[in-house]
This record gives sequence, C-alpha cells and structure tokens, in this order.
Amino acid sequence: MTHQISLMPARKRIALIAHDDRKQDLLEWARFNKGKLSRHDLYATGTTGTLLQQELDLPVHTFLSGPLGGDQQVGAKIAENAIDVLIFFWDPLETHPHDPDVRALLRLAVLQNIPVAMNRSSADFIFSSSLMDAEYERQLYDFAGRLERRRAIDALRASGKR
Ligand code: PGA
Repeated sequence: MTHQISLMPARKRIALIAHDDRKQDLLEWARFNKGKLSRHDLYATGTTGTLLQQELDLPVHTFLSGPLGGDQQVGAKIAENAIDVLIFFWDPLETHPHDPDVRALLRLAVLQNIPVAMNRSSADFIFSSSLMDAEYERQLYDFAGRLERRRAIDALRASGKR
C-alpha cells in the first residue's frame, strides 16, 4: 500500500489544552519543559493559553475558550495540517457540555496521525523523543485506497461473487 507523506517540520506547531482540573498539571509540566517548548510554536485554547503565557513568558497563539468553540478551532487546524502535536490533558472524572467537541478533536488527531499526549507521562515520552526537533515523515490516511477497496468489494457483491 502506498501512503501519502506529509513532512512535519523540526519546529513543531504544538496545541496545548487542559480542562480546568488538569490545568495545574499542564502548567507544572510546561514549566518543567519551558526550554523545549520555546523551540516550537505554541497554540492553545483560550484559558489554557492565557495561563501558559503567564507561566512561560512565551508567545502562545490562543483560540476561543474550549467550551465556546476552542476545541473545534484546534480540530480544524489539525484537519488543515497546521498542528503537528496535541497535548490535551482532559479530565477523566468530569463530563463537560463540550464533550462532543473533545471527541471530534481527538478523532481528527488520530485521523491525521499526529502525536497526542493526554497525560503527563505521555507528554514526557513525546518530548523526550529526538523526533521533536527533527523533520518527520508523517503518513497520511489512505482515503483513495480505502475508497477503491470499498468499490471493489461492492462490485464483487453486486456480481454475486462475494
Ligand atoms: P480552556 O478550554 O483552555 O478555554 O479552559 C479547555 C477546554 O475546556 O477544552
């Protein structure tokens, strides 16, 4: 199977999001990793971004607050191939009105095959990878191939051979 490749730059575009009960955790992690984060371009949902800017004194491009559409904005950027890494500390102990947006965002991150960390240890593993500061050939989902395989199966079914 041939895959399409998208070249991830060495300087990554990193989206950071944390639900309210996880913000402290993300801020502590970000403080510890400030040096590494400073080598990349940072994006965040509204409140998370404001807190990160104060904590790190680094530029952070902020979207709307998550419940007001910020998660969807990050998802759209991922779909447009404008975000390379997602750090999303979501709260496993609470439901939120914007849970459908969170699910949609995570779906797009998987679909676009970008690295996603949803807790500190995953973020540590991603950030300790040498790939963080190197170009990376990211494989894109093979839609055309999938469509072709579907059509072939449908054609076989229609001809009674399957
Ligand atoms: P916030 O949004 O950074 O504006 O708090 C995060 C979220 O709840 O998804």
